[in-house]
Amino acid sequence: MRCNYCGKEFDAKEIRSVNVQVNPELKAAVKDGTLFVHECPHCGKAVLSTEAFLYHDPQEHLLIALSATELSAEGLEGYTCRRVATVGELIEKVNIFDAGLDDVIMELCKYVTLQELGKNVPLKFYRIGPDGEITLAYPEKGEMQMLAIGHNVYSDCAAIIQRNQPLRDSIRGLAKIDQDWLSRFIA
Ligand SMILES: [Zn+2]
Repeated sequence: MRCNYCGKEFDAKEIRSVNVQVNPELKAAVKDGTLFVHECPHCGKAVLSTEAFLYHDPQEHLLIALSATELSAEGLEGYTCRRVATVGELIEKVNIFDAGLDDVIMELCKYVTLQELGKNVPLKFYRIGPDGEITLAYPEKGEMQMLAIGHNVYSDCAAIIQRNQPLRDSIRGLAKIDQDWLSRFIA
C-alpha cells in the first residue's frame, strides 16, 4: 500500500473477501470499517484501503462487491447481488440487509426525505428502532445529523417500487443501487 499522507509504501495484510458464514468474527470489522483501515508504519496515520473487496453472506444469499469498475456476475440466481464504489456504501448496504430491510425501497425513502429536506446531502441509512422507525444520517458542518422517518414512509415507498416494473426489471447482475440509479426512474 502507498500511504496517502507521507507517500511511503508499506506492506499491509489486506483481506480481499469475507464469507461471514465461515468468518462471522470479521463481520463486525466490516461494519465498523476497521477491516479497511491500515496504520502507516512510517507516519502512523490511518490509511483507507482502495482495493476491491467481496462481501458474501451465503445464509442470506447476499453478495456485495466493492469495486470502482463494473463487474459481471453469472450463476448467482436467487442471490441479491450489489456493487458499491466506497467502503461507506458497503457498510450501509450491510446495515440495511442486517435490519431486514430492502435497499431499493431504502433508496426511495432517502430520495423522498431529501426532497422534503430540500438539501443535496449524502443521506445514509443508520438504524431501525423497535417500533419500525428508521433513522437516516448525513454529515453537515463536521457533524452527523440524524433524522427519523416513520415506517409508513417505508411502506409507501415499497408500494411505489412494487408498481414500477421498469425499475424492478433494471435490477440485474451486480446492480449498483443508489440515488443515481434511482433518478433514472423517478422524475
Ligand atoms: Zn504514512
